[in-house]
Amino acid sequence: MSAMLAETRPDEATAVVEAPRGERKRVVIIGGGFAGLAAAHALRHCDAEVVLIDRRNHHIFQPLLYQVATAVLSPSEIAAPIRQLEVKQRNLSVLLAEVTGVSLADRTVDASDRGAGIRKVAFDFLVVATGVRPSYFGHDEFARYAPGLKNLNDAETIRAKILGAFERAEMTEHEGERARQMTFVLVGAGPTGVELAASLAQMVKVTLRGNFRRIDPAKASIILLDGAKRVLSTFAEPLSRRVTGRLTKLGVKVLTGVKVETVDEQGVIAGGSRIPSATVLWTAGVTASAIPKMLGTKTDRAGRALVDPFLKVVDVPGVFVVGDAASVTQNEHPVPGVAQAAIQEGRYVGRLIAKELKGQKVKRPFRYFDKGNMAVVGKNYAVLERGWLRTSGFLTWLVWAFVHILSLPQLQNRLRVQRQWLWSYFTGQRSSRLIPEPP
Ligand SMILES: Cc1cc2nc3c(=O)[nH]c(=O)nc-3n(C[C@H](O)[C@H](O)[C@H](O)COP(=O)(O)OP(=O)(O)OC[C@H]3O[C@@H](n4cnc5c(N)ncnc54)[C@H](O)[C@@H]3O)c2cc1C
Repeated sequence: MSAMLAETRPDEATAVVEAPRGERKRVVIIGGGFAGLAAAHALRHCDAEVVLIDRRNHHIFQPLLYQVATAVLSPSEIAAPIRQLEVKQRNLSVLLAEVTGVSLADRTVDASDRGAGIRKVAFDFLVVATGVRPSYFGHDEFARYAPGLKNLNDAETIRAKILGAFERAEMTEHEGERARQMTFVLVGAGPTGVELAASLAQMVKVTLRGNFRRIDPAKASIILLDGAKRVLSTFAEPLSRRVTGRLTKLGVKVLTGVKVETVDEQGVIAGGSRIPSATVLWTAGVTASAIPKMLGTKTDRAGRALVDPFLKVVDVPGVFVVGDAASVTQNEHPVPGVAQAAIQEGRYVGRLIAKELKGQKVKRPFRYFDKGNMAVVGKNYAVLERGWLRTSGFLTWLVWAFVHILSLPQLQNRLRVQRQWLWSYFTGQRSSRLIPEPP
């Protein structure tokens, strides 16, 4: 096997290796996000080989990505190495590779590593937990000018863009260009857009105060755009109104019911008007990765696999899709693409497979238990909606902070994030204000 791999040059396609199979059944999980990790964890006591494949070597706590993008936290504080799981779970092995193909006929996946070629990994059960990526609604050309926020690279790119814009504004002699550099446009007023805009507003007013001689960062213009009629359209209307009020107070200009027509080097054209801006950020739609489509199942408009009430791919035994990559409905409403749903779905499928391995049949379909939706709007303010309960303000923000600290992947992350938050809460300073040097 190693001889075959050694003969394969890195960029060349590929050594094809059938992974050895032992006595035990094998469960392959694609994706080490919330759903994939929950599935792996639920399989920890079962008598099967669990193989977790991810193209990244780390799990990211995505709800705090916006804090990396706005310099509150550094990347390592919200991420944890997936391989570490091998220490805790004896029946688990981790592969750092991108899955580029699935063969349902052979029951194998193609795990591709640029340096080592493609390895075919056979499975008895397959759990697809590959999440989603930003969607530019058919305008992929916007991506060049308006990065989305999905991984640590995106967060660092956004942070460099924001900090770099202030540096260029300080340098330029041209009034119009200075205004363009100091205009930030966020497209999409869902939770990510709202959280990012509010955090940016605080950064320009507090953190960057007194940092420049020729410009006043507090005069930056932050514009949050959305085609929908209101911000946080999945929340109840009164909460959405409160959030708009809060954003306005922080100095964010909220423009709803406005469609973005163009994004280019100079900024955006929205609702027929050009807004000159050097920093456009994309916080709008999402689309699933290519993997669900490879399962030959029906997908929704965003490319998410339509699964049965047991989260199985219809007519393909032993193949499941969970988390953001799955389109799940409950009581005729879609289960939201949030971390809790991904964790519950992953855990459900892990337990279901563990039972099937013991020859038992699971009769109870998946039920999503809604623990509530939250969004934070700058320092001291968050909103929470859970069933009929709707709250906002400082206490809700404390709950938000508590829940997020507890949910971080490692104790080490929890302690570090807590320390950073306390530091920036009392001083207004943010310690991760680095612009990486160009390669
Ligand atoms: C900026 C941001 C903020 C958010 N804030 C919140 C929040 O406040 N609260 C909340 O509940 N939810 C929030 N969410 C949503 C939440 O993070 C997602 O619902 C959740 O991450 C979905 O989990 P998942 O496991 O399905 O996918 P992900 O966590 O995205 O994991 C997918 C994994 O699959 C891997 N992968 C993908 N394709 C392949 C492939 N071909 N081969 C190998 N590996 C692959 C990826 O590397 C990744 O590790 C936020 C999301 C974002 C982007």
